[in-house]
Amino acid sequence: MIKTDILIIGAGPTGLFTVFEAGLLKLKCHLIDALPQPGGQCSEIYPKKPIYDIPAYPEILAGDLVDRLMEQIKPFEPGFTLGERAQILDKQEDGSFVVTTNKGTRHHAPVVVIAGGLGSFEPRKPQIENIADYEDNGVAYMIKDPEVYRDKKVVIAGGGDSALDWAIYLADVAAEVSLVHRRNEFRGALDSVEKASELAKLGKIQLFTEAEVKALHGENELKSVVIKHKDDSKGETYVETDFFIPLFGLSPKLGPIGDWGLEIEKNAIKVNNAKDYQTNVPGVFAIGDVNTYEGKLKLILSGFHEAAVMCQYAYQLINPGKRFVMKYTTVGGVEGFDGTKKEAKKEVVQSIL
Ligand SMILES: Cc1cc2nc3c(=O)[nH]c(=O)nc-3n(C[C@H](O)[C@H](O)[C@H](O)COP(=O)(O)OP(=O)(O)OC[C@H]3O[C@@H](n4cnc5c(N)ncnc54)[C@H](O)[C@@H]3O)c2cc1C
Repeated sequence: MIKTDILIIGAGPTGLFTVFEAGLLKLKCHLIDALPQPGGQCSEIYPKKPIYDIPAYPEILAGDLVDRLMEQIKPFEPGFTLGERAQILDKQEDGSFVVTTNKGTRHHAPVVVIAGGLGSFEPRKPQIENIADYEDNGVAYMIKDPEVYRDKKVVIAGGGDSALDWAIYLADVAAEVSLVHRRNEFRGALDSVEKASELAKLGKIQLFTEAEVKALHGENELKSVVIKHKDDSKGETYVETDFFIPLFGLSPKLGPIGDWGLEIEKNAIKVNNAKDYQTNVPGVFAIGDVNTYEGKLKLILSGFHEAAVMCQYAYQLINPGKRFVMKYTTVGGVEGFDGTKKEAKKEVVQSIL
């Protein structure tokens, strides 16, 4: 059982910044995300797109913003459960919560913060009859640790950046890489398309275009896939493999959170925005894109603001009756970041007072 003060569901920009705000109040955080990496929409949908409305950054790439946030929260040593979806919320007799993921990892905390954005990103799965039989047993919909594929045979399906980038990367790691795409043209970056074709010419990737994986075989684990070609005269190709990885993109779904007894309006969680961003379940907060209230703006900076407010109330729930005085970071400093500066800033404030 992982224990923490604040359990954050969703490691998008809102969830990440919550770690910072909680850290200032000496509260420990642990984050769960269905994706294998932190950053939410910024990492998954538009890492190379510039953002222009982050205060003090006239322009910053979404991926760089996530890197900056990770750097900012590092001193607070948050825990991460990545690649797992928060599935069940159980309220305990003492008012605390146990959250269990789809992989059975259990987390215990007095406060749960849902920063789930558009919802957990669920993989789009190909229509293959027995695919579920091989999930976690040869079939994977995202790559968490490329080392798993070292010296193994891998078949990747898809025509976007993920499929191309992983095929290129694994060409140097796996024993054999096949890339299957139903069209001749790829949707990924031109540079990646060129690299993949070069690797195909060198025999480091087997490229099957205008083709689809239609069947999976193997007794207890995956042993081979059947590739069907658009051109009937080519028939079917059997490829022996240890892994089949369809990378057809991810679509967000509110998913299990929708069944946790929370008040939902238009696929978003209703919160008390006049006070603390708490939901109708005491001890469960919802911030960032996942919540709704009158005047809500689904922007990164809204999530940052909501995180700051929410943490003050979470502190009171976790430390009932304890007096709390809000301090500017310029006064209190950020422990673990720059201890020396902290002392210097204190002196400045004292002299002003
Ligand atoms: C193309 C595009 C451009 C954008 N441009 C801008 C812009 O310029 N400026 C701006 O301010 N905003 C922009 N946005 C919006 C911005 O990305 C969102 O407001 C922001 O990502 C919300 O952050 P969040 O942390 O609340 O949610 P998200 O970024 O959606 O992160 C939520 C995370 O929660 C996880 N999650 C959800 N449910 C579960 C569960 N049950 N278990 C485990 N994990 C779960 C998801 O996997 C996800 O990683 C843009 C959005 C898009 C799509």
